[in-house]
Amino acid sequence: MICLGIESTAHTFGVSVAEKELEDDTGRTFKIISDIRDSYKAPEGSGIHPREAARHHAAVCSSVVESALKQAGVSIEGIDFISYSAGPGLGPCLRIGGIVARSLSAYFDMKLAAANHAIGHIELGKYLTSLKNPLVLIVSGGHTALAAVQGERWRIFGETLDLTLGQLLDQLGRFIGMSSPAGPKIEKLALEGMKNGGSLLKDLPYTIKGNDVSYSGLLSAAKKLCLRGERKEDVCYAVQEIAFSTLAEATDRALAFTGISELLITGGVAANKRLAEVMQEVCKERGIRMGVIDRQYSGDCGAQIAAEGFRLAERKQFIRPDSAFVRQSWRLDEVVL
Ligand code: AMP
Ligand code: MG
Repeated sequence: MICLGIESTAHTFGVSVAEKELEDDTGRTFKIISDIRDSYKAPEGSGIHPREAARHHAAVCSSVVESALKQAGVSIEGIDFISYSAGPGLGPCLRIGGIVARSLSAYFDMKLAAANHAIGHIELGKYLTSLKNPLVLIVSGGHTALAAVQGERWRIFGETLDLTLGQLLDQLGRFIGMSSPAGPKIEKLALEGMKNGGSLLKDLPYTIKGNDVSYSGLLSAAKKLCLRGERKEDVCYAVQEIAFSTLAEATDRALAFTGISELLITGGVAANKRLAEVMQEVCKERGIRMGVIDRQYSGDCGAQIAAEGFRLAERKQFIRPDSAFVRQSWRLDEVVL
């Protein structure tokens, strides 16, 4: 069974061709045959403009679909079903992916599955790490949450009350003159700030309420440090340390509460090596297995939408093209598994 996964929730228009195979001894159930992406680049100092990003997606969508099929060596007639990211995300961007999926599905008479983007990050992470039933730390531009399956749903065991971890890093980056996504540049600067940045930790708020984190105060305080003339490297180091430590505390508590023995880190910010180091400490202490999604697939991509597509296909959860809508807000705990 071959799936065409289409991602378009925010900055990236991505298409992947993936094939379902029989489960092997690693528990793998599908193979990514191609994964092509084209991302909207925001001007320096500004974030994603939804209409501009949608314009970008409309301009590149047909060539990305074509390239994904070509790289996979599969014709459109060889595709068994389409999975598209139906939400959550930016309305104008989601609609481009929705229209592409709906048109292909109607014209070529292909089955259609509406994937939740966050569950896509999780399903792809599970596939790549071979974790079966993990507590998931999903950290990206759109999400910062701890989730685990209980009964028929993903349940949330801690999340951000305001900014996501990706937004915190991107907004700090923009403030110091970087373009989005700033996460990788901040990670580099933070490495240089490791020597002196520790002295700034006491000037930043560490906010955790119940098992939820909050980053808006941290961002404001970090901006003040920059205005005070502190070195960017040191500020980046201190912000990363505080933000990752709050998540480590929440993760530790969620592991204790759920009794789960695996941790998966997925989403765009999972590419950060320091985050993995901090979480590894928590897992070591508890003697549990940790898996981090491969850097190549941590950011938004068609492969995650194909991964969730296969889960939906297994349950025969297909929709008709005329009901291929998008949902800007669609929490992962609303999805009945
Ligand atoms: P996504 O929305 O899943 O594509 O994730 C995008 C987010 O991941 C953006 O906020 C990026 O700044 C962030 N990101 C990407 N690479 C890194 C990294 N190495 N360290 C921290 N954040 C990162
Ligand atoms: Mg994402």
